[in-house]
Amino acid sequence: MSTSTEVVLDSAPGLTIDGKIVSTSARRAVINPATEQVLAEVPDATVEHLEQAVSAARRAAKGWSAKDLAERQQITLSFVDKVRENIDELARLVTLEQGKPLDKAAGEIDSGLRALTRYASLDIPVEVIRDTNDELVEIHRVPVGVVGGITAWNYPLLLALWKIGPSLVTGSPVIIKPSPLTPVATLRLGELAQEVLPPGVVQVLSGGDSLGKAISTHPGINKISFTGSERAGTSIMSAAGPTLKRLTLELGGNDAGIVLDDVDVQAIASGLYWGGLSNCGQVCAGLKRLYVPRRLADDVADALTAIAATVTVGNGLHDGVMMGPIQNEVQYRKVKGYVDDAVQRGADVYFRGEIPDGPGYFHPVTLVRGLADDVPLASEEQFGPVLPLLTYDDIDDVVARANNSPLGLGASVWSSDESRARGVADRLEAGSVWINNHPVLTSDVPFGGVKQSGLGVEQSIYGVLAYTDIKVIRATRG
Ligand code: NAD
Repeated sequence: MSTSTEVVLDSAPGLTIDGKIVSTSARRAVINPATEQVLAEVPDATVEHLEQAVSAARRAAKGWSAKDLAERQQITLSFVDKVRENIDELARLVTLEQGKPLDKAAGEIDSGLRALTRYASLDIPVEVIRDTNDELVEIHRVPVGVVGGITAWNYPLLLALWKIGPSLVTGSPVIIKPSPLTPVATLRLGELAQEVLPPGVVQVLSGGDSLGKAISTHPGINKISFTGSERAGTSIMSAAGPTLKRLTLELGGNDAGIVLDDVDVQAIASGLYWGGLSNCGQVCAGLKRLYVPRRLADDVADALTAIAATVTVGNGLHDGVMMGPIQNEVQYRKVKGYVDDAVQRGADVYFRGEIPDGPGYFHPVTLVRGLADDVPLASEEQFGPVLPLLTYDDIDDVVARANNSPLGLGASVWSSDESRARGVADRLEAGSVWINNHPVLTSDVPFGGVKQSGLGVEQSIYGVLAYTDIKVIRATRG
């Protein structure tokens, strides 16, 4: 077993500005959540660094957008190759700063690269509306301009790659600002990008929320693609107003999953469990409210308990670990607070898992039942390794309860009868409704929230086109 002192980084990656790697005197400590030790001291970018990056991006935009789509796609594939060559190093950095097991960190990067590979083969044709003796009307997709990509701490590299891919392909340079809690792997990704991309096309600036605010108001930035909390999302939307920035906002979720009474409990148990608890429950579109018919509640609780008992929690660098710590102390205290509060209100913790002795923001896998929908553990996004099981007797009632949330990211229905499940799925207010799964995200399918879970979508041609503006060419003839 490695000790915590062995994993502290000697040097941290730098900011990337105009093709150069830049260090700063101001530094920000990044904590390894498995050890609570300082992992690295990363650069803390100032407003001056942002000014330099925006100027470089605006210069780069001219050349990058002038290349044809095929050439940009070819260079995107070189970037994919470069990241793949370095995937082990990047995955280790993700584990050290985010906490997830090493194989999951590599899986996160692989998933992002597969999205870029797909975008590198997308066609973005000119649409001809009319080509007659009287008139030619064409719709062109032009790059949106400079993009600010602001990301959260749960999937640092996947979220960054989801923003870099559409930027590269459409010809819109991007400045990525990772979460101050998980900037290390993203900064390193930025360094690797400089080896294959022209200066200014992909730049990474690490900094706190104030840097995110400066990006959201900067007149030289044309679009913000943001993944994070509702609180920051609404702040960005107001800040972006005066300069009319285009926005893609991927915010929180409090996804309901509804189990119908015809299921084979054993067959769906693993899907329910990992739907709620993968990535230590820190998944925006994770299953966070599990609705089960009253007569199946004991069977479902037993099946989830059997799986939970097999889950090893520990330092993600260690072999055999299936779940790491919560990423940061604030989130750890928040999740613990939700559970304590639910217990005080009479909820029954029917399973509480083991956690390692010693430091680290390790929270036990916690399965809870016997609580009402309005207990904050169920009514708010708790974002931790906790799954509340709620019972129901009537399908109309449970659909209303599932929809009774200001959020609407994902939802799921579990049934042996797909057409019956479809009937329920059609009534759920969410950007994605999965049947017999939760969540499933692939880069050929759009992903985004309704209600206060966000604005617009990422992934697929829809997500890529969100990095463009429409330009009409209309010629009068004859
Ligand atoms: P957060 O909103 O606090 O931080 C996210 C990023 O926004 C960070 O880089 C942060 O520095 C920056 N930021 C914070 N305030 C800002 C402001 N006012 N203006 C500009 N930038 C600002 O979120 P978090 O705590 O890092 O992430 C957890 C949340 O993200 C959860 O609610 C989760 O559901 C959500 N999330 C959503 C998705 C999705 O795709 N829908 C994916 C991952 C996480």
